[in-house]
Amino acid sequence: MYDGFLFFTSYYFVILIIITIFAHIIIRNSQNTNIMNYSALLDDLKAIVPSQQIYTDELRTLGWGTDASFYRMIPKVVVRSDDEQQMSGIVRLCAKHHIPYTFRAAGTSLSGQSLSDSVLIVAGKSWEKFTIGEGQASIRLQPGIVGSRVNQILKPFGRVFPPDPASIGAAMVGGIVNNNASGMNCGVHANSDRMMISARIVLTDGTILDTGDENRRNQFRQTHPEFISKIEALRDEVRANQPLAERIAKKYSIKNVTGLNLRPLIAYDDPFDIIAHSMVGSEGTLAFLSEVNMKTLIDYKFKASAMIYFLTMKQSCESVVELKKLKATETDLEMSGEDLMVKSAEMLDYMSLASVDDPVYLKYKEDVDAGRIEGVATGDYHNLTALLVETKAVDHAELEKKMQTILEVIPKDHLYIPAEFSEDPAVYGKFWAIRSGIFPSVGGMRPTGTSCLIEDVAFHVEDLPEATVKLQKLIADHGYGDACIYGHAFEGNYHFILNQSFATDDEVERYEDMMKDVARLVVEEYDGSLKAEHGTGRNMAPFVKYEWGEDAYQAMKQLKQIFDPEGLLNPGVIFNDDPKCFIQHLKPLPELTYDIDPIPVEVKRANKCIECGFCEVNCMSCGLTLSSRMRIAAQREILSLEKTGQNPERAERLRKQYRYYGDQTCAADGLCATSCPMKINTGDITHLVRQLGVSSNPTAYNIFNYASNHFAGVKQGLRVVLDMANLGHTILGTSAMNGICGALNKAGIPLWNPAMPKKRSQPKQSDFKPLSDTPLKAVYFPSCINQMMGVSKDAPVKNTVVDEMVKLMNKAGYEVIFPKGMEKMCCGQIWESKGMMDIADRKTAELEAALWEASNHGEYPVVCDQSPCLHRMLKKITKMKLYEPADFIMTYLRDRLTFHKVDRKIALHLTCSMREMQLTNSLIDLAHLCSDNVYLPEGVGCCGFAGDRGFTHPEMNKWALRKLKPQIQEKGIEVGYSNSRTCEIGLQNHSGIPYMSIVYLVNECTD
Ligand SMILES: Cc1cc2nc3c(=O)[nH]c(=O)nc-3n(C[C@H](O)[C@H](O)[C@H](O)COP(=O)(O)OP(=O)(O)OC[C@H]3O[C@@H](n4cnc5c(N)ncnc54)[C@H](O)[C@@H]3O)c2cc1C
Ligand code: SF4
Ligand code: SF4
Repeated sequence: MYDGFLFFTSYYFVILIIITIFAHIIIRNSQNTNIMNYSALLDDLKAIVPSQQIYTDELRTLGWGTDASFYRMIPKVVVRSDDEQQMSGIVRLCAKHHIPYTFRAAGTSLSGQSLSDSVLIVAGKSWEKFTIGEGQASIRLQPGIVGSRVNQILKPFGRVFPPDPASIGAAMVGGIVNNNASGMNCGVHANSDRMMISARIVLTDGTILDTGDENRRNQFRQTHPEFISKIEALRDEVRANQPLAERIAKKYSIKNVTGLNLRPLIAYDDPFDIIAHSMVGSEGTLAFLSEVNMKTLIDYKFKASAMIYFLTMKQSCESVVELKKLKATETDLEMSGEDLMVKSAEMLDYMSLASVDDPVYLKYKEDVDAGRIEGVATGDYHNLTALLVETKAVDHAELEKKMQTILEVIPKDHLYIPAEFSEDPAVYGKFWAIRSGIFPSVGGMRPTGTSCLIEDVAFHVEDLPEATVKLQKLIADHGYGDACIYGHAFEGNYHFILNQSFATDDEVERYEDMMKDVARLVVEEYDGSLKAEHGTGRNMAPFVKYEWGEDAYQAMKQLKQIFDPEGLLNPGVIFNDDPKCFIQHLKPLPELTYDIDPIPVEVKRANKCIECGFCEVNCMSCGLTLSSRMRIAAQREILSLEKTGQNPERAERLRKQYRYYGDQTCAADGLCATSCPMKINTGDITHLVRQLGVSSNPTAYNIFNYASNHFAGVKQGLRVVLDMANLGHTILGTSAMNGICGALNKAGIPLWNPAMPKKRSQPKQSDFKPLSDTPLKAVYFPSCINQMMGVSKDAPVKNTVVDEMVKLMNKAGYEVIFPKGMEKMCCGQIWESKGMMDIADRKTAELEAALWEASNHGEYPVVCDQSPCLHRMLKKITKMKLYEPADFIMTYLRDRLTFHKVDRKIALHLTCSMREMQLTNSLIDLAHLCSDNVYLPEGVGCCGFAGDRGFTHPEMNKWALRKLKPQIQEKGIEVGYSNSRTCEIGLQNHSGIPYMSIVYLVNECTD
């Protein structure tokens, strides 16, 4: 018995070991297969995509793994695609290796739909082609064009791109269509679904289908008969199910982006139309959209807005219901796609008004606390609600009629103050600024470490009075007392902003409970939409069936199955079996904690970053290395790893990679701040990182400090270098110099280019004859660069900038005063860009003292010929009137000169500093005084030269100006003008035409 037991036990034990070993081998093999798949995919990808467009390193996968949502997934591979054929190849390869993938446009999605932990395929900045259709009534667009750019293209024709998300300045057409994004005006009537004419798509098997091209359709019928018949069968099945068909029609009568778009199945008979329109709102789960043909709408010339303050939220919503009934004319239908008198009505609750310190809200508070509002207790401000109403018309008489009709509908006794419209853009612009300011204000005020969540629900308009009040209470009951509710009331679509921490389980649970209650309210009580604009993503995926019901859900699943039978496209988005997926993969937003006391203001500001990506559109290094958003995300990760001590190896690897991708290739120009809702200048963070780096590199500091104390000598040395380079150029010729200097650059020597100037000897006051009998005096500080540099070998002009500037000032009757000791002076920019702030500030202080004396204690204006230098001077020197050339000429010289235009096509370059100082109009207006053919090249922001980086990191300049030369050639432009010498060197090098200071042009065009 005992022997039997022993035998049995041993036998069992041996079997167990064998099973374990087998299991181990199987698991290991399966893991290896997984790894093998990715490495095999990479090998295959490299055959069709340049290797510099494929990233697998920790830093860049982290950067591209960041979108505007509060989720984080880090892709294993990021591929940046360029064109349709290549895209077809990429998706074929993913299918071959059974590897899931996700598409990315601008990554401004809020629901976690542009993230992947597998392969992320970026189709943004290289996909910007467009073709305007006949009569400008339509436009064909590639997916990487930013929405606001489409409006710029259409503006000269008085037309607009209908979808209008608030993110239109950053979001791209691919993302707008695939999210079915919408905003204040487009409602349901003019969203991508209604405005789409046809689509060009790349299917999961790599097939390219253009639903607007008869040949492609016929071909597709031959090659994919089953695909077509399945679409037709689904269409017929849905239509045969009458309750389902009616439900679909009702649900899409208001904004709805929960789940896949079922409307095409009832709205279109043609299977190709169904295929094209199913792409709208599909969030990259069906196919790749490589081009879309969209209708355009006509812009109105006459517009007016009114900010109307109601005594209660319910009353404001009752007015919305009445306003929605006001019909306009047939002309309206033709122009805007609908015939309503009100074009938009935005609701702002009291917290929204409070967040922007709305003056009427502040007055209301005073009135409440003084007991002047009947029936409202002291301290209770929650009733006040504003409606921002807009109407538009073709002529003024019609506009007046519309304004009057609208005001008549609103009961006077429901209002806190009388309502009135304004037609003055300066006045109504302020109303819209209040509306646009809510999100950044709330986001900016949130506690560090919390996420700024924007939820997005819609009710049928007739339900608004009751539903809105309940929504407000529900959110407050869950402890979100600081949440704002605002949004497109006219469409029944509200957003609410929550400052949410995901640091503890309790906080996650609080969010989960609130979301479930919101779902119950919206779905069960009002049959509304859980997502109206922002997409289902991972955020609403568990609620799709709950909102739509079984039949609709199954129809969506069938649609997905037809397009993506293997389920490789954006898995986890829209369809997700995990009921808790909306609280998985939550993104940490750790504080940026640099070891500096007190915390600098730029760090405090950067801590407000919500990773929305609005800055990327202006970031010159986005696509070359990291973008501004990625820099902040990477800094957050590195600092958090350092603080917690977790994974020091990863921290070290990220730090190492950051040196080139994050620090060295940031132009520190600050253009990112110009499109950031929080005004975060990532360039400031770059300066700070450099500053902290300096303390660990005393040798570099000492060298730069020495240079600052012997600046005149250093400049003399650089003149010798310029001389030698010019001699080399003359003797060896351009191509030999390029070859030699390219090789030297690889060894770390700054790169020479043919646009490099000859030297200029040190300018002195005695070089210029003083003007006699002129009371007009101005101080001229030639930047150190213009003190050193002459003209380039092949320049079409002979004089240096300094000579031209003096000549122009004298011509206008101004006596020129140089600051004493200017050969030693610098604005400090050189040191600031290296993070050596103390030296930079010392140099500025020296300059300030010299300018103060030269300007007779601020009596005379001061002009500096280099706009980036002026930018720094303006930040540091406040007691004098400081100008760069264009603004100086427009302010002081213009009326003293006679302008005659040249007959020449010219290009203008608006430097980053001019944009930041908001002086671009001076340069543009001045150029227009000189020529009728002034061209501002598109897609050229920061030139990437960044002081001296154009010499040390020429790839930045090349990348930033990659779109310049084709435009210059196409337009036949002969010469370019700007007001920054270093930028001009880079521009000349990459455009093939000379670029020079605007002062040359003004001298040529004036007597
Ligand atoms: C502050 C803020 C305000 C916002 N306001 C609004 C608003 O008012 N209204 C609104 O609707 N949204 C709004 N959004 C959300 C978001 O900006 C929009 O949905 C936008 O249209 C997304 O565009 P994107 O280029 O960033 O796309 P991405 O986020 O890159 O992608 C969106 C989805 O489309 C897919 N996709 C992208 N390109 C393609 C392609 N070529 N083919 C197939 N699939 C593709 C992606 O996989 C993803 O699922 C806001 C976002 C932020 C941060
Ligand atoms: S820096 Fe500004 S624009 Fe850029 S991601 Fe952060 S908040 Fe958005
Ligand atoms: S400073 Fe310039 S390069 Fe650097 S993150 Fe900002 S926009 Fe990009």
